[in-house]
Amino acid sequence: MMDGATVDTTPAVLILLGPPGAGKGTQARMLEETFGLVQLSTGDLLRAAVAAGTEAGKQAKAVMEAGDLVSDEIVIAILRDRLGDEDVSRGVILDGFPRTTVQAEALDGLLAETGQKIDAAISLEVEDDAMIIRISGRYTCGGCGEGYHDTFKVPATTGTCDKCGSTQMNRRADDNPATVSQRLEAYHAQTAPLIAYYEGKGVLRTVDAMGEIPEIAGALANIVRGAR
Ligand code: AMP
Repeated sequence: MMDGATVDTTPAVLILLGPPGAGKGTQARMLEETFGLVQLSTGDLLRAAVAAGTEAGKQAKAVMEAGDLVSDEIVIAILRDRLGDEDVSRGVILDGFPRTTVQAEALDGLLAETGQKIDAAISLEVEDDAMIIRISGRYTCGGCGEGYHDTFKVPATTGTCDKCGSTQMNRRADDNPATVSQRLEAYHAQTAPLIAYYEGKGVLRTVDAMGEIPEIAGALANIVRGAR
């Protein structure tokens, strides 16, 4: 808890769980700003590896385009590398990792090596049907990564990022209806069991994530303050 006598000075470790489209990326970015933590998205790391043409990227590309999960070996190696970077010592928000029990166990092992623990695994609770609509309309600023949506979050000036002014907007190749269905299926089969995994560890928190973005951000911020 955040009282003078017992402030926890180890870097925070937060996990955001939820299907594609639940708002993990949007909320992780807001938590970054509010708490000075670092968003760590394995999806972003994999897309960067694909763009850079690394060996891992070459292996991941077709799997991602099909909406399936990239192998645990590749994802764990990428995450382990990123966790070694200097900036993450402030604490991390894991967005899209872990996605399987093998990854969750690997994370436990990595944290044990550095004496860290999971502060909270927050499950964003949403309905599948709404996720297809959310994902189909979303796009991201190529300049700063800010997320937008055709209906739910439009920039003040069409085509121009509110945050950085860039006019380069990107839509993800895997944000199409067929791939989204497969991604939701992968979530329910392989990732949803992690809710029980973290409940068993006593760190699970749940948030109704069907509402407005600021409202959900407020609920998450309260959880983070209470978890430290
Ligand atoms: P995301 O940006 O989190 O929606 O991830 C996009 C895609 O990257 C997923 O559909 C998977 O193919 C892959 N991916 C991201 N994170 C993981 C992970 N932790 N385990 C396996 N595959 C992942």
